[in-house]
Amino acid sequence: MSVDLERASRAIAEFLSALGHDPSREPELEGTPERVARAFAEELLAGAAVDLGALVRESLSAALTISVRQPVVVKGLRVVTVCPHHLMPALGEASVAYLPGEHLIGIGAVARVVRAAAARLTLQEQIGPEVLGALVEHAQVELAACRITLRHSCLSARGAREHAAEVETWCVRGGRSMPRASIGSDDRAVQALLQTLR
Ligand SMILES: [Zn+2]
Repeated sequence: MSVDLERASRAIAEFLSALGHDPSREPELEGTPERVARAFAEELLAGAAVDLGALVRESLSAALTISVRQPVVVKGLRVVTVCPHHLMPALGEASVAYLPGEHLIGIGAVARVVRAAAARLTLQEQIGPEVLGALVEHAQVELAACRITLRHSCLSARGAREHAAEVETWCVRGGRSMPRASIGSDDRAVQALLQTLR
């Protein structure tokens, strides 16, 4: 899927024109079509071109030699995503917790995976499963969980106009040894990992 910046710029100019604005006559709109096209292509939706699995695989180091397997919890990761229904951004934070498998995963890669999974035209509910899929399938983690809290501008600036509303989503995924891991599971490991995200 390639990005055509010029075409996107022309489309934004046409969009503004259809809304009664003329970018060639209104000085503050000079350059706006290009700026908007670049903001979407190079930042807001830049994650669409990123292979999440490759990010994880490139960060793996040699077999884990630490004798006690311990959960890794990464909190406070910035999330910027774009709602596919209104093309408006949602901003917030994600936390990811996992029980490593055989390998160490670079913490920076966890942050990059979250950022790339979010920088797409995606629903909030899809981001966590994408992140966990990359960790389970490409780093063979035993168990992983993700919590995401976002403020959606399509919920605050329009529609319900709930300025203070936050939307929180949780998901859990098990690896080979825990294929049935789920939020509602009684499994102690699942509950312990979820506790780390509270
Ligand atoms: Zn929306």
